[in-house]
Amino acid sequence: MLRTHTCEELRIKDVNKKVILAGWVQKIRELGHLTFIDLRDRYGITQITLSTDINPNLLEQAHTIQREYVVQITGTVRERENKNPHLSTGDIEIMAENIKTLNPSHTPPFTIEDNTDGGEELRMKYRYLDLRRNPLKNNLILRHKLALETRKYLDSLNFLEIETPFLIKSTPEGARDFIAPSRMNPGTFYALPQSPQTFKQILMVAGYDRYFQIVRCFRDEDLRADRQPEFTQIDCEMCFVEREDILQTFEGLIKHLFKAVKNIDLPVFQRITYEQAMNDYGSDKPDLRFDMKFVHLTEILKNKGLSVFDTAEIIIGIKVKNQATATRKQIDEWTEFAKSPKIGASGLVYIKYNEDGSIKSSVDKFFTEEQLRTALHAAHSQKGDILLILAGEKIKTLRRMGQFRLYLADYLKCIPQDISACLWVLDFPLFEYDEEEQRWVSMHHPFTSPIGDLSGNIAGLKANAYDMVINGSEVGGGSIRIHNKPIQKKVFELLGLTEEEAMKQFGFLMNAFEYGAPPHGGIAFGLDRLTAIMCNTDTIRDVIAFPKNNAGKDIMIDAPSEVSDKQLEELGLVFKASLNSKN
Ligand code: ASP
Repeated sequence: MLRTHTCEELRIKDVNKKVILAGWVQKIRELGHLTFIDLRDRYGITQITLSTDINPNLLEQAHTIQREYVVQITGTVRERENKNPHLSTGDIEIMAENIKTLNPSHTPPFTIEDNTDGGEELRMKYRYLDLRRNPLKNNLILRHKLALETRKYLDSLNFLEIETPFLIKSTPEGARDFIAPSRMNPGTFYALPQSPQTFKQILMVAGYDRYFQIVRCFRDEDLRADRQPEFTQIDCEMCFVEREDILQTFEGLIKHLFKAVKNIDLPVFQRITYEQAMNDYGSDKPDLRFDMKFVHLTEILKNKGLSVFDTAEIIIGIKVKNQATATRKQIDEWTEFAKSPKIGASGLVYIKYNEDGSIKSSVDKFFTEEQLRTALHAAHSQKGDILLILAGEKIKTLRRMGQFRLYLADYLKCIPQDISACLWVLDFPLFEYDEEEQRWVSMHHPFTSPIGDLSGNIAGLKANAYDMVINGSEVGGGSIRIHNKPIQKKVFELLGLTEEEAMKQFGFLMNAFEYGAPPHGGIAFGLDRLTAIMCNTDTIRDVIAFPKNNAGKDIMIDAPSEVSDKQLEELGLVFKASLNSKN
């Protein structure tokens, strides 16, 4: 080994030991005839002290060294005169006897500090330097622990980790596939899996009983913030279970992870139906770290002469505590946000319940004081509170209010950062209407079992599906699956697939269902998002070693990039390529 200890290891009990350390130069300070180097490795920092008294050549050597040089130091551990209580090794220093440069470094284009001066693009390009910084390093260490604890917990419950293929068959259902041309079978393509869904179900048919995999998934979607074209799932499936078994098993997993990794004891998860989540919070992933539950005011305020209310399908409000003192300017700011394209409301109405008991609203002219008091009462308002109201078409208004609720909580800084609000959202609709494609699509995926039979209005059918939500983020989702061919066939039919199309795309699964498919169900968690929540960061790029940027590019390795004509030729793609180059 080129070292005897790491840069985090030495303590006062090691005084007088002769040691060799190796690492990166974090900082160099000169103070009279002494020079100090902060030497860093993955584990920590140790102070190295160079003095000409020990070796007359040392300072000369030190002059050639700069930040981020890789050096090896031989010396003796000594108690420090000025101890540094902020550093675990702060009681000692190494009196260097020899210093050797193992490799020099260019001056880094940004500082390798917790708060760096580098912009996002620059840091992505020099990801290896960014990864040297503590915040990223600590995130990756936490991610490692999460994966390890996941394996321990699931292994203890008899789950087997089984790999499934990356080169699979393209299925247009769901998001867009990444495809890979097959050289050996010209004109045909593999797809990269959006998830191992069908394989894990087939493993259940094969009798493996409990499966999991920490697995990369690929979706060629337009990148929104917090999305990556490749991301990691903790993918799980179980045989002979009902919904309750899955909820218990995986609530257990998340509790185990929070305890093992963060030493947090999570309370029993709340449960809420999709319908309730939409009606109360305007979202299927409500953030329950704060209240601001919707108050339904349609009965109270509709048909009283205010046309935007009278023509609305729904009128909803949120009560905000102690904000009756909000200034005109603040309310204008909120209104502007509500009307911005992001939310798209036509306006925002307020009713203030002032401290002195009086009422002031933006629609005083249209309502009697009693009507306004009834609305305040419905919201359980107290003196000092304000009621903010949106109206319009039902689903749109619920969603708008849902977004406005998040905006406002953020604006008022009333989201507690030190709690984790975990819940299950249950009873999702089986299908939703895709306006763009003008057809019904599965809300979860087409293998999800319905609750009850498939007769009745398509919009009213419910799925035996569940999502786990933490702090307003969907961290996991799954369902009890269909395990018999006629029901699966009927679902494909409702999705508008002909029998022929369904067989072509999913025949392998339907056939498998005819060879003794057990009842089964499962779930998949987004490991990136779960890690981000535990690391208190908003962006999953901070918890992925080598992420893509917002344009789906890895700017460190410059991907995606062009390939040679020879490669295209081998793949039988020359014709298309030459067409492209003419355009
Ligand atoms: N495969 C599903 C997904 O990726 C999760 C599941 O149903 O288990 O969303």
